[in-house]
Amino acid sequence: MKLTWEPLTLELRTTFRIAHGADDRRYNVLARLDEGLGEAAAVTYHGETQAGIMEYLSRVADEIAKCDDPFLIEDILNRLPLGSQAARAAIDLALHDLWGKRIGQPLYRLFGLDPTRVPLTSFTIAMDEPALMAQRAQESGLPIIKIKVGGENDEAMVAAIRNATNAKLRVDANAGWTREQAAAMIPRLAQYDLEFIEQPLPVGDIEGLRWLRAQKFGLPIFADEPVKTARDVAAHAGAVDGIVVKLMKTGGIREALRAIHTARALDLRVMISCMIESSVGVTAAAHLAPLCDYADLDGPLLIRNDRFKGVRYDGARMIVPEGAGLGVGEG
Ligand code: MG
Repeated sequence: MKLTWEPLTLELRTTFRIAHGADDRRYNVLARLDEGLGEAAAVTYHGETQAGIMEYLSRVADEIAKCDDPFLIEDILNRLPLGSQAARAAIDLALHDLWGKRIGQPLYRLFGLDPTRVPLTSFTIAMDEPALMAQRAQESGLPIIKIKVGGENDEAMVAAIRNATNAKLRVDANAGWTREQAAAMIPRLAQYDLEFIEQPLPVGDIEGLRWLRAQKFGLPIFADEPVKTARDVAAHAGAVDGIVVKLMKTGGIREALRAIHTARALDLRVMISCMIESSVGVTAAAHLAPLCDYADLDGPLLIRNDRFKGVRYDGARMIVPEGAGLGVGEG
């Protein structure tokens, strides 16, 4: 199989400011494996860069060229060296796309899933002036809003949006608080009728999460950044109420399935989410979404130059394409 790749620069509709930093563009990579498509998101706070992803792909291209059977997904992925999880995800996605295309079925069917069971997706409002955030939430007209916090004005941002909409609200602190800040802020935010909070504490502080959860502030806590693989899911058992699965953290669909099933065995709720990704990466996640309790798959809604046609949005409802494999077309 022939692996090729190209830079995929995504232009954000509004500056995407979160606790990790602010961006107007994201520098992803598109991968192709024969007629299979994959995407890698270069998320700098996960140590990923566009150059690093392309370097990884060039390093493994010869090894992949030796294999001509896309049905050996497990075998091929196990032979890949450690390194960029996003690049590994791009290869995994392209392999699954190719697998579905060879069989002539959409991935959700191959996984035995009902595409009408995809949970409604949230829509992300990045950090900004509270009044502007409230206006964006209102203008979206969408029923589930995810608010990025972890800055200076957290309570004012949440209060402004709560006053502007009846939507369900989730917040994501993106590892932006200390234990003390989180213990002060979570009970305050809990007054605004929120569904849950993502990653209040820095990566690595599992005991802090356990301690926060034991305070029973009335706001379920989900772990995101530190939970990459099924092993990380197991490490967070009892410390959080749920976990956030992203293909760019797991290194693709294969490990995402393991992470989701591990979470189920440990009584953790599961949200499937994305990075800033085009319809290639997000459609792949949508095929798995019927396995999850919550969806946060708004990547294509946040960018203005998506070259691909895959999952479609009817408000917050996601319509998974019926084409073979990912079902993603270009142009
Ligand atoms: Mg998050």
